[in-house]
Amino acid sequence: MSKPKPRPRTARREAERANAAVVATRERIARLEPGGAADWPITVESAVLIERRAAELPCTQCGGELEVKDHDAKVVGDSRRRIVGAKCRRCGNVRTIWFAIVEPVEN
Ligand SMILES: [Zn+2]
Repeated sequence: MSKPKPRPRTARREAERANAAVVATRERIARLEPGGAADWPITVESAVLIERRAAELPCTQCGGELEVKDHDAKVVGDSRRRIVGAKCRRCGNVRTIWFAIVEPVEN
């Protein structure tokens, strides 16, 4: 016995649910990348490099170009972090990227 064809509305809802799952999975992967969490930051040698590095990263949803929207300093535990909020120019996805400034060690 074959299943009845889904009505258009049901099919659309299922497609939306599937898309939401893809978005959630990509968000999870983004958190595992450097810069995705406070304890997994991208390290830079100077604060001036932060926004440049952030703008070089791709959107985690569509691979589009990011535009830096805000840049804040935050203390997490005993570490200083910079948080950059960036928005994709193509799909509008907002990405939060964590940075740590690590002074180069003089030899
Ligand atoms: Zn995007």
